[in-house]
Formats: sequence, structure tokens, C-alpha cells
Amino acid sequence: MSDVYEVYAIRYGYHSRRSGENFIGGDPHNTLQPLDFFVWAIVGKSGTIVVDTGFDETMAKRRQRDLVKPVGEGLQAIGVEPAAVETVIVSHLHYDHTGNYDLFPRARYHLQDSEMAYATGRYMCHPTLRLPFEADDVVAMVRKVFAGRVTFHDGEGEIAPGITVHHIGGHSKGLQSIRVKTQRGYVVLAADATHLYAHLDEGRVFPLTYNVGEVLEGYARLKRLASSRDHIVPGHDPLVLARYPAAKPGLEGWVVRLDVAPKAT
Ligand SMILES: [Zn+2]
Ligand SMILES: [Zn+2]
Repeated sequence: MSDVYEVYAIRYGYHSRRSGENFIGGDPHNTLQPLDFFVWAIVGKSGTIVVDTGFDETMAKRRQRDLVKPVGEGLQAIGVEPAAVETVIVSHLHYDHTGNYDLFPRARYHLQDSEMAYATGRYMCHPTLRLPFEADDVVAMVRKVFAGRVTFHDGEGEIAPGITVHHIGGHSKGLQSIRVKTQRGYVVLAADATHLYAHLDEGRVFPLTYNVGEVLEGYARLKRLASSRDHIVPGHDPLVLARYPAAKPGLEGWVVRLDVAPKAT
């Protein structure tokens, strides 16, 4: 069936940190709780849709994050040539989701109206809110608008049969999650609508947040959109690599397949 897709998570980066940094109010255990950085690929008969574009080596140094494998290499490992990709969905404009501007020269980008308005408007006057944004990233997206390469969505939008975007907000004002029809049901790429499984499961909130209420409402929304809790894929959880099988032998700990059932947590 043409509206059923394979879905992959591709890890490109890493940040070692304590759990207390991952939750509003901290964490009483304050154990080591690193974040992984991912992009995602939705592969169907008519081509590949890439979700988010990651950051490059320059940004990794600037932000003191580890670039483990460049985004382009991860895509090539599953046979996706970035220069041939025609569709990119950007969940939101934070630095770890919208770098590598020139990696997809043929692509049209899909973004929420409210994310562009947020990233170019009055809230960016506040250092606290602009912290996860980079001016160059935002400018690069504005240039794509003027080059006729951006499609805006307001709320829900269909990207292709079986693939829809859904405005969640919360973490960033225009954050969108992506719902994909697969052989095991509807998988939801939450992106930063939930960084870790713990946020979703325990109703806790990541500290970088535009609107706490929208984050919490977003968890319920993700659960409604996905076929089950185990169809929701958090945006930064190292458990994703542990739970899902490698896309093929040799890609363990790098690229995993999300359209097959995960191991229990
Ligand atoms: Zn974010
Ligand atoms: Zn992020």
C-alpha cells in the first residue's frame, strides 16, 4: 500500500548531562541522564521525507555538544541521498533541529506558521526564550521562504497520504509532531513534544519551555494521535536506540527502525 511507510531514527549527536537538568524542578536522584540528538526518515514508495535537519560540526562546537556522525552520513547509511530529498518537515526552529541548511538543495520545507512568527518576533527579544535559537538558522529559513521553498501549516496538515503534521506548541510556540501510518499502526514522531519517555509517562516538563500548559496538554494529544504509548517516539531519549532494532546489521546504536514493534521498557 502506498500510504504505509518505513520510519527510521538516525542518531547524530550526544550531550552528557545530569537528570536534574532535564526537568523543571530538577530531579531528586540527579543521575547521569544524557540526551541523544536525532533526525528521522520516513521512507515510502514515492521517496523519502526527512524530519528535522540536525546540526553540523561548527554548531556542535559552539553549543558544546558532540557530533557523533554527520546527518548526511546517517541518511546515506540507509540508502537516502540528501541531495535527492524533496521534502523536509521541520518540527521547530531550535538549533538542533534546523541546521545543515545546504544539505537538501532540492527540498521543500514544511513548518508551522506560529513557529516562524515566534522565531522572528517579539519573544526573541528575551534572552531566556531565544536561547535555543540561532539567528543564522532562522535567517536561513527566511531565505528559503523567499526562494519559494517553504510550505506553511496552521495546526494540522497533510504532507503525503498517511503522513500528517500536528501543531503541539508548548516547548516552542510552533512545535509540530508528525504522525505516520506504518505496518504496525500510527507512529508519532513527537520531536520535542516529549524529550524523554519520562516526560510523557510522568507528566514532567523539560526546562526549556514556552508554555507549560501546552506541553502537558501535548502529552495527551500525542497519546490520542498514536496507536499506543509505544507508538510515540520521544525526541531525545537514548532508550529509542535501545528499544528498536538496527535498520540493518552494522548500524546498531546509530540508525534504528521505528515501524517495527519495540522491546518493552
Ligand atoms: Zn527544542
Ligand atoms: Zn531538540
